[in-house]
Amino acid sequence: MGLVVQKYGGSSVADAEGIKRVAKRIVEAKKNGNDVVVVVSAMGDTTDELIDLAEQVSPMPAGRELDMLLTAGERISMALLAMAIKNLGHKAQSFTGSQAGVITDSVHNKARIIDVTPGRIRTALDEGNIAIVAGFQGVSQDKKDITTLGRGGSDTTAVALAAALDAEVCEIYTDVDGVFTADPRVVKKARKIDWISFEDMLELAASGSKVLLHRCVEYARRYNIPIHVRSSFSGLQGTWVSSEPIEQGDEQVEQAIISGVAHDTSEAKITVVGVPDKPGEAASIFRTIADAEINIDMVVQNVSAASTGLTDISFTLPKSEGRKAIDALEKNRSGIGFESLRYDDQIGKISLVGAGMKTNPGVTADFFTALSDAGVNIELISTSEIRISVVTRKDDVPEAVRAVHTAFGLDSDSDEAVVYGGTGR
Ligand code: ADP
Ligand code: ASP
Ligand code: MG
Repeated sequence: MGLVVQKYGGSSVADAEGIKRVAKRIVEAKKNGNDVVVVVSAMGDTTDELIDLAEQVSPMPAGRELDMLLTAGERISMALLAMAIKNLGHKAQSFTGSQAGVITDSVHNKARIIDVTPGRIRTALDEGNIAIVAGFQGVSQDKKDITTLGRGGSDTTAVALAAALDAEVCEIYTDVDGVFTADPRVVKKARKIDWISFEDMLELAASGSKVLLHRCVEYARRYNIPIHVRSSFSGLQGTWVSSEPIEQGDEQVEQAIISGVAHDTSEAKITVVGVPDKPGEAASIFRTIADAEINIDMVVQNVSAASTGLTDISFTLPKSEGRKAIDALEKNRSGIGFESLRYDDQIGKISLVGAGMKTNPGVTADFFTALSDAGVNIELISTSEIRISVVTRKDDVPEAVRAVHTAFGLDSDSDEAVVYGGTGR
């Protein structure tokens, strides 16, 4: 008998009907002879609503209390799902992240999983239960406080449990039929990908394709857990994310030159204006940011004006960290030495991802041509071996994504991509 881990996202369990529909699907997997562990997210947009609520009582809620609040969302769905499964005549038990043995560090709101000790899950399975685990949460090893894993973190819970339980596969059920060549909400002609390597998926996820969370893919690659991303609303095969290409019929699916286009409008740009152009300046700026436990993304230093000896340094970071970063820099203003700070949250990032880039010299030129033909102005550029990213105005993002998608021949000539649920929030 195999063990499967299934994860259902918020859009799949948005209401009572959704929970009952998902319960039936879980019971099918159990009837097929599998041990089934289910990771579930909060219903619909519950997490966003809880954050809104917190901000109404406090503009900067304490991390510990925010985590305590947010984990309530997943507790609601796990209990309801267990009830729905029992109603179908099967045994089910729900567990919080802490009860399931998800041990994390103590960085509130974006904790990292450092160990998984799923003893209670094993016992529940041995007793014939379907185990339902609240996603996105854990307990900190040192302080024993409740933590959350960052937005979209239920994906990581699922893969971490799959690794700890030695599951055959981790199935991620969502509101689209798999991983597409672009977000189907933006590109109607996006094409479903049958197989994608961990490396390309990692870059897409890191570049904003929220269908899978970056950390979840990192985890899956480290423990070599195949992920099957598929819709909970259809019976179609989805996308396999794994180290080796899958077989389809008698043939092996080939690695695409370009896997897809990702976009991200969740970042902001901070420009540190008037920084002395001498060694150590960038170090002290980014040390300040690191000490505030903020991850940054792109960095650009402008050429300094020879007459002043001053330069500007810009970097991007999650909008949610903007306030904290500005406060930290202001506090260190005399130590670092700069004239002023500029904050811009009307930016967006577009990224082209594909392992074939390494060996196809025209890709960068074609990418910039597509953007210029679409009249999109570029503010920052960054690249890796298998990715090119640019920052533009936020309003230009949808048009830019579509232009690049078409230019690289990714448009599907068959049906439009289906989005079954969710609000896209
Ligand atoms: P869930 O509630 O299941 O966790 P998410 O909203 O986190 O769902 O992720 C699914 C969404 O990811 C889709 O509805 C889609 O809008 C978005 N998305 C972004 N990029 C892609 C992509 N390349 N392929 C598929 N979906 C994508
Ligand atoms: N409910 C959490 C969120 O909305 C975690 C998740 O859905 O994966 O971010
Ligand atoms: Mg998600």
